[in-house]
Order: sequence, then C-alpha cells, then structure tokens
Amino acid sequence: MRRKIIAGNWKMNLTVAEGTALVTALRDRCAKVSNMDIVVAPTATAIYPIAQVLAGSMIAVAGQNCHWADKGAYTGEFSPVQLKDAGCKYVIIGHSERRQYFAETNEGVAKKARALFDHQLTPILCVGETLEERESNKTFDVIAEQVKVGLSALSADEVAAIVLAYEPVWAIGTGRTATPEQAEEVHAAIRKQVAEIYGQATADKVRIQYGGSVKASNAAQLLGQPDIDGALVGGASLTADAFMGIILYEESKK
Ligand code: PEP
Repeated sequence: MRRKIIAGNWKMNLTVAEGTALVTALRDRCAKVSNMDIVVAPTATAIYPIAQVLAGSMIAVAGQNCHWADKGAYTGEFSPVQLKDAGCKYVIIGHSERRQYFAETNEGVAKKARALFDHQLTPILCVGETLEERESNKTFDVIAEQVKVGLSALSADEVAAIVLAYEPVWAIGTGRTATPEQAEEVHAAIRKQVAEIYGQATADKVRIQYGGSVKASNAAQLLGQPDIDGALVGGASLTADAFMGIILYEESKK
C-alpha cells in the first residue's frame, strides 16, 4: 500500500501573515490525521516562517522550485541547500508554469532532481501535456519523454522515493478536471514506464499524485483510482476549509 500524499502549491499567493494564519489552522485541524503525508509549498519568502509554525507537526514544507547548484552567481535563484536550511523537506520541480513561463526543460528538471537527492530533499516532479498535445494524440509521448529524461539521473531506489505529479496543463487553474478514467489511464502508463526502466518493485513504490483543479467535491473519485496516490492542489490549498475538504475525505477512509 502506498501512503497517500496531499500537497498544496500556493504559487505566488499569500503574504507571510496570511500563510502563517493558514498553516496555524491546518496544523491544528490535522493534528489527528495519520494515514497520509501532508505538504504545503509556500512562496519562497514565506518558507522559513511557515516552517517555524509547522515544526514538530505532521505537515511538511516544500519549495516550489530550485536551482541545481549549491550556491553561486545565479541572481534570483535559490539552492537545495538553502531550501533545506529554511525548513523544506520537498521541492516541486518541473511545474508546468515553470516550463511554460520560465523555460524549464526536461534536462534542467533532471539536474534539479539529482541535486535534491544529493541534499536529502524529496522532489515532487511534475509532468503533463498541454491541450494541444492531448488533442493531437501526443499525451503519452510527451509524458514518457518528461518521465524518462526527468528521472534519468536517479537510481532505482531514488525513483522509488520520488513523488511524481501528473498535471494535465489544460486542467490547472481552469476548473476543468481530468475524469478519473483519463487521469488513471496516464498514471497507469507512467507506472508501467517506471517498471520497464527501473523494475516492478520501484514502480510499485513510487507515488504519483494527480493535479489539476482538485477540490473536495472531486477528490473522492480521483483518489479512489488504483494508481493515483495523492493530489497536488493549487487553488483549493489557499484556504483551510478547501484544503481540509480534500484531506478529510482521505482521513475518513481510515
Ligand atoms: C497546481 O498548480 O499544481 C494545480 C494543480 O493548480 P489547481 O489545483 O489550481 O488547478
């Protein structure tokens, strides 16, 4: 049984005060949650204070991006070393907004994944097709390439420990969700590909989140699919009620 992982990606939202209030509520309301991993990914400026509020709680903190170098002349960037120092356990890499607006490539994602494992941080590696790619039947080719190259610098044990996130670009922030069948089809294909490259034991362990307009009302069906091991949540992670709606669905299955 893979342990579910629900992560909230705040993107470029919330001040330190707003984020602190949100995680204080989440920390208290999640105090008895034990059957899943919960992660929040604040904007970089809020990581340290948020990590202070969550210290000793069951909620972990993630970065939304990182550079692959430990340090250096890369104005505006931050390194895995710095993210770990600020309190992160996870770092999202390859998010479609990074790929689309900041020219993040599969090769860059592979370097970031390598650097994160070198610093005992867990990558949440996002893959997903655009609407145009889906409509021209390229979904599986695009994702296979993102998975193959993105994981290429890792050992089988590292792949078993990584978190993958399938996020169809057309479903992010649009209110349009993949059907559970559409999502499961891609998740199963990703797991099959991992099995072919890294072996079945690795594929059985790797967790694959779904992301794209997940909310309390569709979480049950999506998270009920055999190869969907959690959710990467954008909009619905910005209020305690909306995020807890997703978490409590999972918790109720205990
Ligand atoms: C995301 O940003 O990873 C995401 C899935 O956003 P939303 O839930 O708002 O679609």
